Amino acid sequence: MTQEFRQHIEISREAYRHNITTFRRMLPPGCAFMAVVKANAYGHGLLPVAHLAVAEGVDMLGVDCLEEAVALREDGIETPIMVLGYIPLDQLAAVIHYRLTPVVYHAESLHRLAVEAESHRTEVAVHLKLETGLHRQGVTEEELGPVLEIILRCGILRLAGLSMHFANIEDTTDHRYARRQLELFRNMARRIQETTGLQPQLHTACSAAVILFGETHFDLVRVGLGGYGLWPSKETYLSTILKDQAPPVLKTVLCWKSRLAQVKAVPADAFIGYGCSYRTTQPLRMAVVPVGYYDGYDRRLSSQGHVLVRGRRAPVLGRVCMNMIMVDVTHVAGAAVDDEVVLLGRQGEESVTADEMAALCHTINYEIVARLGAHIPRIVVD
Ligand SMILES: *Cc1c(COP(=O)(O)O)cnc(C)c1O
Repeated sequence: MTQEFRQHIEISREAYRHNITTFRRMLPPGCAFMAVVKANAYGHGLLPVAHLAVAEGVDMLGVDCLEEAVALREDGIETPIMVLGYIPLDQLAAVIHYRLTPVVYHAESLHRLAVEAESHRTEVAVHLKLETGLHRQGVTEEELGPVLEIILRCGILRLAGLSMHFANIEDTTDHRYARRQLELFRNMARRIQETTGLQPQLHTACSAAVILFGETHFDLVRVGLGGYGLWPSKETYLSTILKDQAPPVLKTVLCWKSRLAQVKAVPADAFIGYGCSYRTTQPLRMAVVPVGYYDGYDRRLSSQGHVLVRGRRAPVLGRVCMNMIMVDVTHVAGAAVDDEVVLLGRQGEESVTADEMAALCHTINYEIVARLGAHIPRIVVD
């Protein structure tokens, strides 16, 4: 099966299932679970991951944009879908056509949705995003009155949920800002419940919040990164330990593989790759891997990254090219053309992690996986 590809990404059903189960065990009874599958399921593949999530019985799928939601519906997925990001006004009719739940945060969307709902004679459930300190999307205290007015007066939009997003919960062990946001959210939600008499679903928690603070769970949690077996940050891991909590065991879902395209001898004092940035100090055996920055192998891994061949680490030599990298296999006995190469994930006793790559690239594991090329085949295994 995998022989057909020059590179592919394996998605472990077992690991994904384990992570979803692990997160669900942390939730109070009755709390719903949203699997966040935006950004091509954090690079893991939108459709295969969404089907795995549906098989696990998740209550909802979370996407960023309309295109992702439509792709899910057109692939036969019937699970409720929440669109977390912006939907342009002239595309809001699709919310009704594809039975989506939009997150709204301004009057313009609400007016337009009400018009669409009227013309289709369908009630539309909306979730209102509240501004509590991220200053991205969200309705402020001052805007709240007029926005609620639009929803209540039109009579065809239903206020089904209230949400917020944390600004500073992952990359810190100081959670005072997060607590302040939560407090603001509680106050705004209470005010809304009192003035409208409604009981909308409340949701605030991303992966880090689910792990760290039970009080953020409310009625629904939105789990992205953790479902893929990655920790939101070192600080999140450390925070669980500081709280005397046993950190949950997460399993990496993704393994990115390719093959050796060539193995050859390179003499001492030879330059390898563009820019002559790497010069050999002794004769070595070098292999070419047909993967480059186009595929999401970050160029900052030039002369920094490692791949795995026959269970051994092979350092990247010189610059990452658009479609190729060169690696040192001098110490890898028997390395030969078509050998399996692991770029990200485990091979034998060794592994290359997204965390390790992120550190080398001065970014976060989220970016490493999210930017894996959408053209790479994703294959569900075990
Ligand atoms: C992406 C996203 C999440 C998921 O965050 P993770 O840290 O990946 O769990 C949750 N909520 C919103 C609004 C998001 O945009």
